[in-house]
Amino acid sequence: MNTNLRIDRDRLWQSLMTLARIGGTEKGGVCRIALTDLDREGRDLFVRWCKEAGCSIEVDRMGNIFARRPGRNPKLPAIGTGSHLDTQPTGGKFDGAYGVMAGLEVIRTLNDHGIETEAPVEVVVWTNEEGSRFAPAMVASGVFAGVFDEAYGLSRADPDGKTMGEELKRIGYAGELACGGRPYGAFFEAHIEQGPILEAERKTIGVVTGAQGQRWYEIWLTGQEAHAGPTPMTVRHDALLGAARLVQEANRIGLSEAPWGRATVGMMQVSPNSRNTIPGHVFFTVDFRHPDDAALTRMDAALRAAAEKVAKEIGLELKLEQIWYSPPVAFAAPCVDAVRQASKTLGMQAMEIVSGAGHDAVYVSRVAPTGMIFVPCENGISHNEVENATLGDIGAGCDVLLHAMLERAQAG
Ligand SMILES: [Zn+2]
Repeated sequence: MNTNLRIDRDRLWQSLMTLARIGGTEKGGVCRIALTDLDREGRDLFVRWCKEAGCSIEVDRMGNIFARRPGRNPKLPAIGTGSHLDTQPTGGKFDGAYGVMAGLEVIRTLNDHGIETEAPVEVVVWTNEEGSRFAPAMVASGVFAGVFDEAYGLSRADPDGKTMGEELKRIGYAGELACGGRPYGAFFEAHIEQGPILEAERKTIGVVTGAQGQRWYEIWLTGQEAHAGPTPMTVRHDALLGAARLVQEANRIGLSEAPWGRATVGMMQVSPNSRNTIPGHVFFTVDFRHPDDAALTRMDAALRAAAEKVAKEIGLELKLEQIWYSPPVAFAAPCVDAVRQASKTLGMQAMEIVSGAGHDAVYVSRVAPTGMIFVPCENGISHNEVENATLGDIGAGCDVLLHAMLERAQAG
């Protein structure tokens, strides 16, 4: 294999900046929400560029786009890569777009050098990764991986009642192909880290070994509404006081599983939410994450114990439900190794890292050997218009993608 082979960093950067104009915001971000006219424009541009690079295009019923560069042996499953083109309402230029443009750049580089691979190479655009307009997130890669069925995916509706199925038809991306059952010899997703670790550790490449497991909870505390004036402190059943203590407890539980534990209370509703009434009801959520399932189980037990203790102390009724459990995911060793080896071959500073966010690759890993490549983003910020990354890091991640894919594409 030619270890001197490099992608064209300036061309990759130019592609990203051209794409970012579609839905570009005044603050330098991108607002290209799933299945809007702007999403169609972004998709059209991707398809045009892929056709110009000699790829054939297929679209499945969930609107996932597959751009294929043939290999010498058409019987081999393709080596895939890709990500998403939709953004958050105040999104940036790199989240998702990077993984798609990096895949295209790999194909353009192979073309430039006249390189034939044994296995076909494919770039995929997954529909509606963000879940901002249509919940849940990653729904189309989820259908692809058999996590959801197609009917469920197509019936997801936005706040105006428009479904993904209708909107896919409207923008011309309701394909004929059944979603799923498409084999991959390996699948890679390049993505900005969306966290501060690589930057802090001064590493260029994150060799992603897997994704955190998650447990999501909904908690209801019921006490007693009473007048803020006449009710002595000692006889109150203040639901918000209980919730406040549990916010502290959740934080403590996250810290107790350092450095990988994560605990977040992101939503709370207080009732009656009146300044001179002791709160009678509080609803709030807890989001726990950890790459080790045993640690996640300890966090679960600690939360339940703390909730019971607090409810008892304050005299509250407690209802605690785990509404979602997603076990930790370990990516496939041959793919993780390919990323690690490519970083080494290219002399890049790399470290192992676990994904804290959800990604299409996490679902794809259920049906194909999968790996991910992270590159640093400025101050670890994403889902924000100021999201930024350097040309050097963006290019380095794409070089690693190229070599990891080549290693897998020729291994067949
Ligand atoms: Zn993303």
